Amino acid sequence: MSKKKPEVPLGSIKNILLPILRPDLMPPGAVHRDEITPDDSPCNHCVGKCCRYFTVPIKTPRTKADFDEYRWYLAHGQTVIFTETETKNGKSLTRWNLVVWTICQYLLPDNRCGIYHTRPQVCRDYKSEDCEYDTPWVFEQSFETPDSIQSYGEQFLEERRAARRKK
Ligand code: SF4
Ligand code: SF4
Repeated sequence: MSKKKPEVPLGSIKNILLPILRPDLMPPGAVHRDEITPDDSPCNHCVGKCCRYFTVPIKTPRTKADFDEYRWYLAHGQTVIFTETETKNGKSLTRWNLVVWTICQYLLPDNRCGIYHTRPQVCRDYKSEDCEYDTPWVFEQSFETPDSIQSYGEQFLEERRAARRKK
């Protein structure tokens, strides 16, 4: 995931809770990754960052209704929308994603998985070798508030209207 540390909105009780709930604001694991031996795992020294959110792909917004829907996502808090761009065969493709900060019900108080042997495939596929154990999230572009996506949407739609008028 392309990552950028989002800004925390000020003046809210959430500011107190967010560092607890948000893996992107948590400190790095207790032991430096370089010091972890091959028979050990970063997961043994982590607060279970990857078990405290999930990310789902969402469509690229194109219409007023799309941006309005995304404004609704962000109105719920503990959410962020971010984009990541990949280049394939000389063409760049931007994907949109929704992050929801929510703790998995199977995460135990000691930050271990309570259903390790039957955990979902997505958890099995996620590798600790290049995870967020000790790296900050850096988003290429992110939206964390309803106002931010609304402003972006208004600008996007205005620019598109202007481009169409020129044709
Ligand atoms: S995979 Fe990475 S983020 Fe997840 S628990 Fe292990 S070290 Fe932490
Ligand atoms: S099922 Fe286990 S590994 Fe997967 S998110 Fe929940 S606690 Fe983490």
